[in-house]
Amino acid sequence: MSTVESPESSLLSTLNADGSRKWIKPKPSRGRFWKRRRVVAYGLITAFSLIPYLRLNGRPLVQFDITVREFSLFGSVFYPTDTVLLALLAVSVFVTIFLLTALFGRVWCGWACPQTVYMEFLYRPIERLFEGVPGKKRKTGAWRKPAKYAAFLLVSMFLAHTFLAYFVGVEQLREWITRSPFAHPVSFLVMVGVTGAMMFDFCFFREQTCLVACPYGRLQSVLLDRNSLIVSYDPVRGEPRGHKRRKAKGDVSLKVVEGKTPDPADAEPGDCIDCHKCVTTCPTGIDIRNGLQMECIHCTQCIDACDEVMDKVGRPRGLIRYSSQAAIEGERTRLLRSRVIVYPLILMLLVGAFVMVVASKDGADVTFIRAAGGMPYFRVDESETSHIGSRVKIRVRNRTDAEVTYTFRLVELPGAMIRGIDEGLVVEPHKLGSAEVVVLVPPEEYGPRGQRTVTVRVEGSDGFGHNVSYSLIGPAWLGEAAGDSADERADDSEHKTDNTGTTGEPEGDD
Ligand code: SF4
Ligand code: SF4
Repeated sequence: MSTVESPESSLLSTLNADGSRKWIKPKPSRGRFWKRRRVVAYGLITAFSLIPYLRLNGRPLVQFDITVREFSLFGSVFYPTDTVLLALLAVSVFVTIFLLTALFGRVWCGWACPQTVYMEFLYRPIERLFEGVPGKKRKTGAWRKPAKYAAFLLVSMFLAHTFLAYFVGVEQLREWITRSPFAHPVSFLVMVGVTGAMMFDFCFFREQTCLVACPYGRLQSVLLDRNSLIVSYDPVRGEPRGHKRRKAKGDVSLKVVEGKTPDPADAEPGDCIDCHKCVTTCPTGIDIRNGLQMECIHCTQCIDACDEVMDKVGRPRGLIRYSSQAAIEGERTRLLRSRVIVYPLILMLLVGAFVMVVASKDGADVTFIRAAGGMPYFRVDESETSHIGSRVKIRVRNRTDAEVTYTFRLVELPGAMIRGIDEGLVVEPHKLGSAEVVVLVPPEEYGPRGQRTVTVRVEGSDGFGHNVSYSLIGPAWLGEAAGDSADERADDSEHKTDNTGTTGEPEGDD
């Protein structure tokens, strides 16, 4: 006897025996959970469509502005330099998902994931409108299919444009829409690409996104435990399944005699009448009666389908229900377990760290970096004085909502100075300003290895004040050759470039 199972044997719910794809056209079950999911789904779609238009503190409520590399979230602005904050945010999101999954199973997949929400409450209703409800008389007419895809295209364009508004803002998007594509070919191609991806996903790929592309379903075996809330079939109540005429039943479970395997034929019939309505309504094509499966997105359609059947056959609802593996097997569901204690603790630590980092953020981020090109230092002689000059690039991110002028001065370093930014650096709100300056330090201030850390006091016209430390590189042999004057040593430096525009001369010319 062959041990190879055919694809239909619940191995792959969307594969036919000949290897072709089985197209899933689920029959909707409009029960109590479906009605609740519909309210949640249309609420989410409305929120998704409106959020790009909402502002808080003059900023977009939520926007990942890739053009200027800013992330606005509920009135706060984050930048790529906020790596700690962004990392804390990302880890917090993951821990929240872990916690929600441990408690409520795949509630995200069934109730809030955009893939499920759009597929089940936008695209499938449109499909049924043009083609009819599966299991009922199919609507005919050659125009229906093109009309269906035209409607899909309109919906996809709307969703794609709304999606893009989260990345470029509604003003930019409005400009793109109202101008000729030839005036902005790149952004037009991006819009076409995102619309095409939506069409591919919701017209063709569909449930395959959940089955083969999404990693979350594959993680459920480690994220769930026996006490997590899942959509589950009750085999104790349901088995043995079948169409047998039902007697008035007492205990519907199999009668187990110690030391003897019960014969299903002797058992009272279970509540499952094997009508397959829970299968034909399933958007991923699986049979929930086979137990918890990776393909189950916990959409509750099988609950609604089975409840309707139970109502018809006069049995209590809940043969398929929200439950836990422990409860289904007759044990008590434990709400408190190690993972639902540890995850909130980790989450509290992460949120606490996030709040502390946000609270400690100044009105500006100041960065000093070595200026690109040229030598790291050079000699500058002016009348009686001599300095080692270093070209430094200053970057200031103004995190406030007002224009600020920033000034820079060296702290506790007699004879040293900063040149090239005497009037200060003016930076617009939430913009990045930069300037290249020359830091001049007397040669004798350099250490034996030619290094010198300076402290720069940065002050803003808005009251901002911050000390920034920066390490300069000077001639490495300074201070080593006792007896040589600093000028003589600097004269011998190999670094001969002066491209600063200061009065310094190339050292090799001395
Ligand atoms: S819908 Fe209910 S009764 Fe029908 S096959 Fe599924 S579990 Fe059994
Ligand atoms: S088994 Fe039930 S809950 Fe799971 S995906 Fe299918 S219909 Fe939804």
